[in-house]
Amino acid sequence: SSYFPSWVMHCTERTFVAIKPDGVHRGLIGRTIARLEDKGYSLVALKLLKPSRTLAESHYESLRSKPFFGDLVSFITSGPVCAMVWEGKDVIGQVRKLIGNTDPLTCAPGTIRGDFGIDIGRNIIHGSDSISSAEREIQLWFHSEELVDWNPSLHEWVYEKV
Ligand code: UDP
Repeated sequence: SSYFPSWVMHCTERTFVAIKPDGVHRGLIGRTIARLEDKGYSLVALKLLKPSRTLAESHYESLRSKPFFGDLVSFITSGPVCAMVWEGKDVIGQVRKLIGNTDPLTCAPGTIRGDFGIDIGRNIIHGSDSISSAEREIQLWFHSEELVDWNPSLHEWVYEKV
């Protein structure tokens, strides 16, 4: 935890977020990032890439037995994907809430998938669902030197002092 400034001990959680090819093609990168920035979260890493089949299959390895796995991997590898790491208090769970349910038709308006998506296989964005998957996915998509160590000045105004 020496990574974090002593007065911002809230910011000990990180999550992996990816804007999928549909979100990139539809021009939703800026609006998606704006929602996470607006909430008060901080960007730690960002890159645009066309993921390899190996990367996409490892990312979704828990879904390997599902009937939609092949289509999902083809879709993700078609790229581009905007891969990001976000940081802040309870960021994993809060980003999942901001994203909405897996099926956009069941999402509340105001969520990213609820506002921008219709079909489950074109649901715009991915966010890690637990601490263990966040750690796994960040390591899978990023080298440690791509994670930027910085001290966002907004932290002073988003978080109470501890
Ligand atoms: N997916 C799909 N068909 C399904 C279920 C899931 O195409 O019936 C896709 C969808 O894009 C989803 C991804 O597989 O986002 C991963 O599924 P998961 O259950 O992990 O949902 P998520 O965590 O993304 O909400």
